[in-house]
Amino acid sequence: MTGTANPTKIRVKVLRQQDQNAPQHWEEFEIPFREKLNVISALMEIRKNPVTSDGKAVKPPAWEAACLEEVCGSCTMNINGRIRQACTALIEDVAEQKGDTYEITLEPMKKFPLIRDLIVDRSKMFDNLKKVKAWVPIDGSYDRGMAQPQDDHVRQLRYALSRCMSCGCCLEACPQVNDHSTFVGPAALGQALLFNVHPIGKMLEGERMEFITGEEGITGCGNAQNCVKVCPKSVPLTRAIAELNRDSTVYKLKKWVGIV
Ligand code: SF4
Ligand code: SF4
Repeated sequence: MTGTANPTKIRVKVLRQQDQNAPQHWEEFEIPFREKLNVISALMEIRKNPVTSDGKAVKPPAWEAACLEEVCGSCTMNINGRIRQACTALIEDVAEQKGDTYEITLEPMKKFPLIRDLIVDRSKMFDNLKKVKAWVPIDGSYDRGMAQPQDDHVRQLRYALSRCMSCGCCLEACPQVNDHSTFVGPAALGQALLFNVHPIGKMLEGERMEFITGEEGITGCGNAQNCVKVCPKSVPLTRAIAELNRDSTVYKLKKWVGIV
């Protein structure tokens, strides 16, 4: 943030696109500043009177939001070039101040198919969870036995991994997730480890490791560690990747000697 004048207005630049096949263009809006306004509230202000800074009446920008408390991930977007949730982005924290104006640019996520304006289709996140079988099998075909005592370190790791909200920030930041790569991305790897270290989830570990050691799996990671830096839930992604790397070596050795 630069500038010392008391801010009185917010200039919001939004990258607009009617649908995937339409051209992109920027539109700029100005709204009065008030403290503690988050990006979603700023978009709601624009929606009340969707007229651009140069006086053109337009359709209000489209965005998605649900929980408004950084739990659902649906309002994830690029805000001044940084991927994050719009609901917890306060204008005074994220905008650049120029004179009496806070400036902010909003762009949709780029690693997901665009639906409209700031809305993207995050189905890939949930498809990836299916690929790594990120669940505990409870169909009755396993002898689950008595509840097992949990190692406290494993419990703490599982809690940290379970905070993932499938927002997609880590995929957006990962250079290895792109149109030319089949890499499943860091979020699904974190969830694979979560269920591999679960006493019942472990029953599917072999199937998970088969996927993780395959074409879409862990070899796609280039270890740039962008993912862990942008995760709003501090999910220990690089630790998960390191542990799965080690587990992959063990799995491949076991497979080679024919014991899995
Ligand atoms: S690991 Fe973090 S950044 Fe990635 S999807 Fe989960 S919450 Fe979002
Ligand atoms: S560490 Fe791996 S998963 Fe994370 S950003 Fe880098 S390449 Fe992507």
